Amino acid sequence: LPNRNLLHDRLGHALDHARRHARHTAILLLNVDNFNSINNSLGHDVGDRLLKAVAARLRDSVREENTVARMGGDEFAVLLEDVGHADNAVRVAHKLVGDLVKPFLVGEHEIFTSVSVGIAIAPADGNDADSLWKNADTAMHRSKENGHNAYRFYSADMTTKIRERLTLKTQLSRALERGEFRLHYQPILDLRNERVVGVEALIRWQHPDRGIIAPDEFMPVLEESGLIVRAGEWVLRTVCKQLQQWSSLLREPVRVAVNISGRQFADPGFLDKVGCMNCVLKGRGRCAGVMEFEITESVLMNTDLATIKILKALRENGIRLTIDDFGTGYSSLAYLTRFRVDAVKIDRSFVQDMIANRDAAALVEVIITMAHVLNLTVIAEGVETSEQVMLLRNLGCDMMQGYVFSPPRPADEVTTLLKEAGSLKPR
Ligand code: C2E
Ligand code: CA
Ligand code: CA
Repeated sequence: LPNRNLLHDRLGHALDHARRHARHTAILLLNVDNFNSINNSLGHDVGDRLLKAVAARLRDSVREENTVARMGGDEFAVLLEDVGHADNAVRVAHKLVGDLVKPFLVGEHEIFTSVSVGIAIAPADGNDADSLWKNADTAMHRSKENGHNAYRFYSADMTTKIRERLTLKTQLSRALERGEFRLHYQPILDLRNERVVGVEALIRWQHPDRGIIAPDEFMPVLEESGLIVRAGEWVLRTVCKQLQQWSSLLREPVRVAVNISGRQFADPGFLDKVGCMNCVLKGRGRCAGVMEFEITESVLMNTDLATIKILKALRENGIRLTIDDFGTGYSSLAYLTRFRVDAVKIDRSFVQDMIANRDAAALVEVIITMAHVLNLTVIAEGVETSEQVMLLRNLGCDMMQGYVFSPPRPADEVTTLLKEAGSLKPR
């Protein structure tokens, strides 16, 4: 591995570059926990080999463009150039801590160790190599004091934020076990006749003390922690049960749009789960309902084979795909020719600006025209006023959802609404 001098050099260059381009650079300082006691009990030869194994694992753990260096002794450092958001430094630190806690096999010894990490980010925690270094070191020592196997930022409020996230993660995992999640359903209407044509399932957390919590507050942590895979499975199962209940209460099968996060596509069991749900829905004489998936542009931009395979299989399973938050993503439309999707959902930011801002209105018009050329259905979300309804109708938009008709509601309220012939007038 590069040594201290080389890293110091690279850090200097990275900081120069970052200053010129207004970017962030992070330095992570790692110290192997209890290295001395391992050295003393198993001997220096085992200690040396352990350090080599740690070095190798570190290098595997971070991306190639990041420099991993040996500072001396049992201390290592990782230089992250162009980290963007502080969250990215967290992600790397989190991964490092997780990867290094797995046991090392050195000769016949299975050694359990861990690392303590200190993180400093320029320019907030220092503008030159020396002060950044010193601050990362301070953070690392604090991290050690607070028990091993942890990471810590130099700035205190950053550490608080991270700690809050970790608590939230634990709480969310518990919430899943205790069944504290709920689904609300928001009607989607046909703009021509204002009949309800389906609903979108939206997750809520029924917190024992705080009441109902909206997904914006916990979705980022569900995604980051990977808990979204379990939560997403719960959503699919719950929607499936709901569709069965509706099929015994209503004359027409209901369409439910389900939000699927990119992380779920990386779950090897995803297709099996979807396949099972689909069998349940179709297995009892008549179709109990239809599931549609809402995915974001970033999923479709992902060209790895596994994702492509899943998207194809979903279509073969008769699941319709909608691109959610359309217009906010990469705005590269090439993917639309790679995969057939069925609909686009215009992001609510355009819908909301549409009346006051002519450019937003023009954009909505272009999206609708383009989608229709490609034979896609257009749904507008976040529709709040009858003015917006009128404009959208004039522009030829097919469907809409929003507070102007109904917010997302619990299943029993939506059942009543679906029973009432499924026709609603705007407020
Ligand atoms: P989204 O898919 O874009 O969902 C639409 C959001 O707009 C919902 O927020 C909905 O309550 C809100 N909304 C509906 N009508 C209006 C309106 O007229 N005005 C305004 N301002 N907002 C309106 P919600 O329920 O808080 O969900 C936020 C996001 O969380 C969703 O955005 C979606 O990305 C994510 N999400 C929700 N449920 C799930 C889920 O089961 N799985 C996954 N992966 N993501 C979910
Ligand atoms: Ca959605
Ligand atoms: Ca959306």
